[in-house]
Amino acid sequence: MQSLVAAEEGTIRKDWGGKIAIALVYPNTYTVGMSNLGFQTIYWHLNQMPDVVCERAFLPDPEDLDELRRSGTAPFSLESLRPLTDFHMIGFSVTFEGDYLNVLRLLGLAGIPLRARDRRAQDPLVMMGGVCAFSNPEPVAPFMDFIAVGEGEELAREIVAAYRDDFHDRETFLDRLTALDGIYVPERYDVVSDADGFVAAVTPRASARPIVTKRRLRDVNAFETISLVKTPNAEYGHMALLEVGKGCGRGCRFCLEGQVYRPVRHRTVDALRETVKKLAADGATRIGLVGACVSDYPWIGDLLDAVQDAGMEVSISSIRADSLSDSLASALARGGHRTLTIAPEAGTDRLRRVIRKAITDEQILAACDLVRHRGIPNLKTYFMIGQPTETLEDVEAIGELAGRMLDRLRVLDPTGKPFGRLTLSISSFVPKPWTPFQWARFDGADSLARKLDVIKKAVRRFSNVRVLHENPREAALQALLARGDRRVADFLEIAAGFDGDWRRALREWDGDPDFYTTRTRTIDERMPWDHFDVGVKKAGLVREWERAHAEEPVGAGAPRRPAATRAGGGCANLGAPSPTRSGAGCAICGSPSPTAATSAASTACPKRNTSGCRARRSCISRKSAGSSTSSSRWASTRCG
Ligand code: SF4
Repeated sequence: MQSLVAAEEGTIRKDWGGKIAIALVYPNTYTVGMSNLGFQTIYWHLNQMPDVVCERAFLPDPEDLDELRRSGTAPFSLESLRPLTDFHMIGFSVTFEGDYLNVLRLLGLAGIPLRARDRRAQDPLVMMGGVCAFSNPEPVAPFMDFIAVGEGEELAREIVAAYRDDFHDRETFLDRLTALDGIYVPERYDVVSDADGFVAAVTPRASARPIVTKRRLRDVNAFETISLVKTPNAEYGHMALLEVGKGCGRGCRFCLEGQVYRPVRHRTVDALRETVKKLAADGATRIGLVGACVSDYPWIGDLLDAVQDAGMEVSISSIRADSLSDSLASALARGGHRTLTIAPEAGTDRLRRVIRKAITDEQILAACDLVRHRGIPNLKTYFMIGQPTETLEDVEAIGELAGRMLDRLRVLDPTGKPFGRLTLSISSFVPKPWTPFQWARFDGADSLARKLDVIKKAVRRFSNVRVLHENPREAALQALLARGDRRVADFLEIAAGFDGDWRRALREWDGDPDFYTTRTRTIDERMPWDHFDVGVKKAGLVREWERAHAEEPVGAGAPRRPAATRAGGGCANLGAPSPTRSGAGCAICGSPSPTAATSAASTACPKRNTSGCRARRSCISRKSAGSSTSSSRWASTRCG
């Protein structure tokens, strides 16, 4: 651990005297956690408060874990090496359901009672934030004293203020927190299931509110989201990361990020230009742009110019095939990109229509041409298997499409260099709450394994095609945790008792995983997360679920720069500029446009259905529907 800190630039060290001590914990390894921009941002914001000392902790690597266990040493913070029990609060940043197991392992190693109700006065308060907190925190809720539901930049300050002003004992402090928008105190809610196992009622106690409303940051320009700690030990640690905005208006039906971070809020290019200059002055030479769909940033050209003017190189996680312009490809090639990433998500246009991803085969092939024209040697593609309505033909089409892409890629670039490698990264579709596919069934590990075999067999004849995928059984675990209710907490507790051996825990648990995963849910079923309001209307999800099955054609065409002032002209549903359909509402999401006359001056609705990102770790940012097992999480989404 000490060698990790020694290799860092930008570590914040503060004296503890009289301060509120917060351990910010990423329940995965240092490499994964330090690749997460949200984690870094909260670390910085908390330490900006003079009376707070915030230190980081991570899940130790396996060999260090063994050593901790052998020696009976509690997990400790990076900066001062203090055990987690020395802190007033422990905040877990959770962006991947699979990390729930690590949360419990860390608490157990620290000697902190797992269940909130069992904690004593001297125990730290345990809280959780991150996208899992506002997706469906129910499986992990019994282990949390409180949960921050929503974007944390402002909420973190309010939690600290409440602690500073009013901490006498746990109960009165939690009482006070329940008054804050975006705070969920699970112990203050009684969850009742009916005889068939369905959630029948969630009843608040005392001062708790019936519905917990997500917090969102209203003025994104007021808070910079940048990485300030540089480290060679994180995947993107060599570059400064900069978030260009929050939310995505594309509305891909599998995508959690595209729903729960609404409305779309782009930072202004002026604000970003200032940040870019500051980063350059601090010595950064390379900048990674982060956001749900960076290539949709309305002023991407101006921003790329600003980066170039500052003398820096630019990197973007993945690009939507239909947004890839020659200038963008050129900028990325200049920035030293050796691999460009796009996400077709499905092998056929039909299935892309179902998932609201309106990229066509032709656009994918055109992207291949640009890659070669600009001399980028490798192409990586993301596909997802197991999506609703998928047939064998859709799966076989992935291999066929790879062959057609290779035909376009196997040309010499302008300098005479040959193409390198085409990578197919195949993830498994995991239905997520708050998406139109929240009612869908998970395909099942055996079915997914057979589909993977079909793809691998189809591309075996190509020497420069590589197939990457995770174990579908890991996806099955994620599917259980993503849509589980509080009874799934028992499974997590058993797994923690087996030191994370969840396969063994599944055998011991008396619950039925299929109830949560491979069953198609009915529209009128109460969901475990229905006592939250994250700004997504169920009626809209139902409409999209039905449209998916109708395979309605979806619009294409890249979103353009929104009107400089969107005052009154936005799509009511998306918080985004409406299309030019005066009086007809948003042509894409179908919601009535509040000021149709104004919106006529706007441009395309960014919620056109095209891209794909999921809670996948092998990219600049986390994805939100595909299973996640690789190792880098810049932020919370990645699209291409
Ligand atoms: S997959 Fe990407 S483009 Fe589609 S909604 Fe999600 S963030 Fe947006």
